[in-house]
Amino acid sequence: MSIALLPAVQAFFQRDHGLFVDGRAQPASGGRHLEVIDPASGEVISRVGEASASDIDAVVASSRQGFAQWSQAAPAVRGSVLLKLADLIEQHCEELAQIETCQSGKLIQISRHFEVTQAAHFLRYYAGWATKINGQTITPSLPSFNGERYSAFTLREPVGVVVGIVPWNFSTMIAIWKLASALVTGCSVIIKPSEFTPLTILRIAELAIDAGLPAGVLNVVTGAGGVGKALIEHPHTDKVSFTGSVPTGLAVGQTAMAANLTRATLELGGKNAAGFLPDVDVETAVNGIIEAGFLHSGQICAAAERFYVHRSQIDAITSRLSERLGQLKIGSPLDEASEFGPVTNKQHQAKLGQLFAKAREEGSRIIHGGKLIDGPGCYVEPTVILANSAKDSLMTEETFGPVATFLAYDDEEELVALMNDSPYGLSASLWTNDLGKAMRLIPQVKAGTLWVNMHTLLDPAVPFGGIKASGVGREFGDAFIEDYTELKSVMIRY
Ligand code: NDP
Repeated sequence: MSIALLPAVQAFFQRDHGLFVDGRAQPASGGRHLEVIDPASGEVISRVGEASASDIDAVVASSRQGFAQWSQAAPAVRGSVLLKLADLIEQHCEELAQIETCQSGKLIQISRHFEVTQAAHFLRYYAGWATKINGQTITPSLPSFNGERYSAFTLREPVGVVVGIVPWNFSTMIAIWKLASALVTGCSVIIKPSEFTPLTILRIAELAIDAGLPAGVLNVVTGAGGVGKALIEHPHTDKVSFTGSVPTGLAVGQTAMAANLTRATLELGGKNAAGFLPDVDVETAVNGIIEAGFLHSGQICAAAERFYVHRSQIDAITSRLSERLGQLKIGSPLDEASEFGPVTNKQHQAKLGQLFAKAREEGSRIIHGGKLIDGPGCYVEPTVILANSAKDSLMTEETFGPVATFLAYDDEEELVALMNDSPYGLSASLWTNDLGKAMRLIPQVKAGTLWVNMHTLLDPAVPFGGIKASGVGREFGDAFIEDYTELKSVMIRY
């Protein structure tokens, strides 16, 4: 049975949401709106403003003023505002989780425990960096001619106004990653959420004001079709941080470079691999595959989509996996007993339908699922596919859905070659009980993050980002500092 929506959530949906600029909701200048649709029911749940070109100028002007103020705030003040925001997010956990589930179709338990609770943890981690971002003191290396002396040091200065383009799969947590990186380094930030999931960040922006963030330091621009590009091309934005698909990421990078070398961090998807060594028993492997490929219906950029299993185990593993997936309770994401919900929008559901058709045309074997589920919601069957070769479309194209495609291998050399046979390299996982073997394989696998006996778990202390066509730059750890600050070198002669 579905949980009842909190009165605060119902009231939030009823509001006529505008853009969030200068610390308050403001109507989009053209008076246009976008509808937000619940992917579980297909019904409109709320409306947000649709920004136009004149809104972009006003938002960027507000963010520049916000930057002038926030970049001068003492690091301890920045840290304490982020800590306060983390507390408020936790206090509003159920409200934010319900909004998130209604806009994205994410199971309510995932919204509570991953999206919202983890967002607060990430925010606190970033807050800790506020007082620890420093340059270096350097001893210049060249000999002096007349006895003069030199001293040098570096400063880490905030890059300026950051545009954070956030996808629909984890619209709360990824917005937090972007705004936390920006705010802790002294930047101001404009969040451009996906048109499918714009609601939680609008609520978080209000909480940020309650937490003491000055107006204009965090602005939110909702809209679709050209808003992101206009923000990057604006002469007074300084950096874009984009998370989303590879083709759009390439376009974003090109737009940024053409717009006065606007700095760009790109966290893109790909086609992540998971390799299972034959010493892993069938049940452990199946649990690992469900973790790696089916959490949030596979709509995770780091999720695995290519699964390599030793030939001796492929039948046992795919048939046990099919059995387990067949037992999942598919249902409303607001029902706490549901184990599998819809994908986030109709377009994505349709794309998955096309990929299933392609798999059939190419003669890949669909062992389980492989169909869209009829009804008003965007449901898709969890799917297991056995590929004929590494060239099958389902082995090369990102599905971003609940689809695990398998290929058998015969020896470790072949396993490594198959795992690396991709233009992408965001994440990968190796599964084995033999630590020595894992240690020998780790340097051979090409990926920005490599997990052993786990997949998908992100930790704010551990840098995350892609190699090859999966992106540029890193989030988390201390790696994000590089991307959100400029390094200024100072030399003094005396
Ligand atoms: P996209 O990856 O296409 O990103 C859409 C966002 O990018 C929108 O906010 C859009 O803003 C902005 N954008 C588009 N073009 C530009 C540009 N040239 N410059 C700046 N911003 C731009 O996501 P979709 O929602 O369209 O999803 C498409 C597919 O991507 C999905 O089916 C899924 O497979 C995959 N995906 C992958 C994700 C990942 O993390 N790997 C995350 C989400 C989706 P505007 O509307 O204003 O143009």
